[in-house]
Amino acid sequence: MFCPVCKSEYVEGVKECHDCRVPLVKELPHPEDQPPVEFEEVISTYNQGDIATIRSLLDNAEIDYFISGEMFNLLGPLIQPARLKVRKDQAERARKLLATLDLTFLGVSTGEDEPPPKQS
Ligand SMILES: [Zn+2]
Repeated sequence: MFCPVCKSEYVEGVKECHDCRVPLVKELPHPEDQPPVEFEEVISTYNQGDIATIRSLLDNAEIDYFISGEMFNLLGPLIQPARLKVRKDQAERARKLLATLDLTFLGVSTGEDEPPPKQS
């Protein structure tokens, strides 16, 4: 038996931690039993170039994220947008980082951000 607060181990039969006055539990929760981390969608984009940029940016900032709908690499043209999901507690930071980029996000593309033709 363990106290969930101070993690003291007690012999079988003890029902309450002497120090913390809380009911004992059979096993201490394992770290992997923690509730799943929540992710929220930050942006979605049809632009594969954006994804690469976003990845390197978030990797550098050590932000936890994943991108859903990334199967487009196998399917050819995007059928549905790739959605960037960032851990909830880091979403705000990710948004600020992404705001510094010139990306063609879904819905905010102006159509005027084509790079100038290359000079040879
Ligand atoms: Zn205790």
